[in-house]
Formats: sequence, structure tokens, C-alpha cells
Amino acid sequence: MIYLDHNATTPILAEVADGMMPYLREEWGNPSSSYGFGAKLKRRLEIARASVAELVGARYASEIIFTSGATEANNSAIHSAILGNPEKRHIVTSQVEHSSVLTYLEYLERYHGYAVTRLPVNSEGLLSVDSVASAITGETALVSLMWANNETGVLFPVEEIATVCRNAGVPFHCDAVQCAGKIPINTQSVAFDYFSISGHKFGASKGIGALFVRNGSAYVPLIYGGHQEGEMRGGTENVPAIVGLGVAANIAWKNLEKSHQSSGDTRDWFEKQLLTDIPCAEINGGSSPRLPNTSNIHLPGCDGDALVTFLDQKGFCISSGSACMESAITPSHVILAMSGSHERASESIRISIGVETTAEELRQLIDALKGFVAMNA
Ligand code: PMP
Repeated sequence: MIYLDHNATTPILAEVADGMMPYLREEWGNPSSSYGFGAKLKRRLEIARASVAELVGARYASEIIFTSGATEANNSAIHSAILGNPEKRHIVTSQVEHSSVLTYLEYLERYHGYAVTRLPVNSEGLLSVDSVASAITGETALVSLMWANNETGVLFPVEEIATVCRNAGVPFHCDAVQCAGKIPINTQSVAFDYFSISGHKFGASKGIGALFVRNGSAYVPLIYGGHQEGEMRGGTENVPAIVGLGVAANIAWKNLEKSHQSSGDTRDWFEKQLLTDIPCAEINGGSSPRLPNTSNIHLPGCDGDALVTFLDQKGFCISSGSACMESAITPSHVILAMSGSHERASESIRISIGVETTAEELRQLIDALKGFVAMNA
């Protein structure tokens, strides 16, 4: 198998699995218990929290809340911002967000009467800072925008957007799921109020993520129960997964520069080679600032879903959009927003490489793509 879908999920790192194992086998106590066997695990949770805080550049570890993943982190951030300011009934987002933001906002619109502005992007997938500034009104409760798009890797100018929001007095939530471990993050110096990450995108297990909530920003729990997470999220903590998240965060932080450089070099080589070998191919968002590991390719005349199946039969894992949208019959909402063309959206595929991806694997992919293009030309 040649796995080229790291934006959907990543393999669990060996160090992460090793780090988790004792908490699955021997240290299976409940951190909320009063006896030592359970209670000592609280310390382990705090070590993991400190590692995640370091990865995202948070000033205080207490600004990190563990969640079941980024879907919950995103829901929780939106929920906090709107309940923190209940008289404001307007939310600004973009057309290319992940379903965990878009679907929750649709729910708020439909059942709670919120007005939602979904900002367009240009043909290169970029969002203008001015469009955010002009969308904000006195009624705006929140601006929620991703940093890196999961389908194209295109980076929004979130530093500038955060400043616009701060100056307008509007909380800013950033879905940064695809950034953790790929680009430097500094929640201390950028005016993020809420910032979501997900473990399985950088070598930890599925079902664990974290929400950064800046000290002083509104927070209202989404999940009520026990006193866990400093009363901010009820439910017995998933200790093995949290420990694993901490280990993955440590590794991501230490290797950031190296992995950024090597993924970027490999991806750039791949795109250059691809465009030489398949001249009709185009890179969606290719001229925008992007994550170093993502290529979204338009192959005119080639049905993306058929191509995914063809490549699957040849042992390649790639996708035609986001895994969370994969079952939908409609083509990528991201490429549609960029191009306005259903055709282009259904003729595009996503390649997302990991640190273990080799040039030889990508060479084999290009050969397979050439074969498919020749059959469909
Ligand atoms: N936001 C983005 C940009 C994502 O790519 C994903 C995962 N596909 C999520 C949110 C949801 O993360 P999780 O799988 O942890 O719920």
C-alpha cells in the first residue's frame, strides 16, 4: 500500500503507541479517583497538557482543554463564543470550512435564528482580510475560519484576520487541524481566542484533540458531567489517548523544521514532475501560500471518484475531497467555491504526503496517473 492521504489521518507514531501502551495495560485507573492508583494519572494528564501547550505556543497549560477530536473542539469554540455573548446573532465564516464548522453553523441558522455570512474565496483558494473586516457588524458574535484548508492546503492570512477581529472586539476561532506539526504555531502572539487541533492528523490516535481557549475569552462547556478538565468538559478522560497526544505534540514540536522542509521539497518535486509528465494537469491553489504536504490536482476529463477507485485497485490511498465529505455525492465544496465549476470540482483529487513518503512512491503515483489520463483522454 502507498498511503498518500495524511490530511485524512496519519499512522500512529511508534513512540506514541509505546507511550500509550502502559496506560492501556497497567495504568488503567480513573484520574478522578481519590486513591493513588487513579489519582496519580492526573499528573500524567498535566504533562500531556504542557506538551500540547508548547506545540501551539500557549502561555498557560490551563488554556488547553482535551476533547474527543477537532469536531468537538470546533463545536465547543462556536458554542462558547455565542453563549458568551448571547445578544449578538451573527457569525462570519468561509465557504470552504470543514463540515464540523459548516454543519454546526447550519444548525444554528436553522434552529436558533443565527445569521451566518459565508465568505467566498478566490480562484486560488484565498480569502481577503478586507472581506472579513467588511463582514463584521455590531451584531457579530464570532469569526470562525480555518488556517489551512484540508483539501488544498491553502493557508488563510489568520494572523491579520485575528488582528482585525481583536480590533473589532469580535472573538476569533481558528480551526488549525491541518497545521499542527506542519507549520509553526504561536497562539501567544496571534490574537486567537479559540484554536482547534486533532491528534490523528499528526501521529496520535483518533478520538483525541484539543481546544486552546485564551485566558479571559468566554468559555461555556459543551459537555456537562463531572468535574473533569477543570469543570470545562465533563466525562472520564481518555488517558491513553491524551498521553499519546502529548507524545505526538512533543515530537511534532521538536521535528517541525525538519519535517516542514522535507515534506515541502518532496511535494514541490512531485508537482514539478507531475506537470511535466501530464501537461494538462493543474494544481488547485498552486500559487497561494500552502501547507508543505498537500497537492490538490485537477485532471481535466478525469472523474475524481473513478480515479480514486482506480488508484485503490493499484494500492494507492488518495482522496477526491475531505474524508468527512467522502460519502456525499456532491463534488468538493472547496474546489467548487474556488472555481465555480462542478466539472472541475469532480475532476480534482487530493494527495497529502507524510514524513515517511518517498519520491519513489510519488514516481509510481505519477505513472499510475499517466495511465489513467491516457485511458480517459
Ligand atoms: N477540521 C479540519 C480542517 C479537518 O481536516 C478535520 C478532520 N478531517 C476536522 C476539523 C475534524 O477533526 P476530527 O477528525 O478530529 O473530528
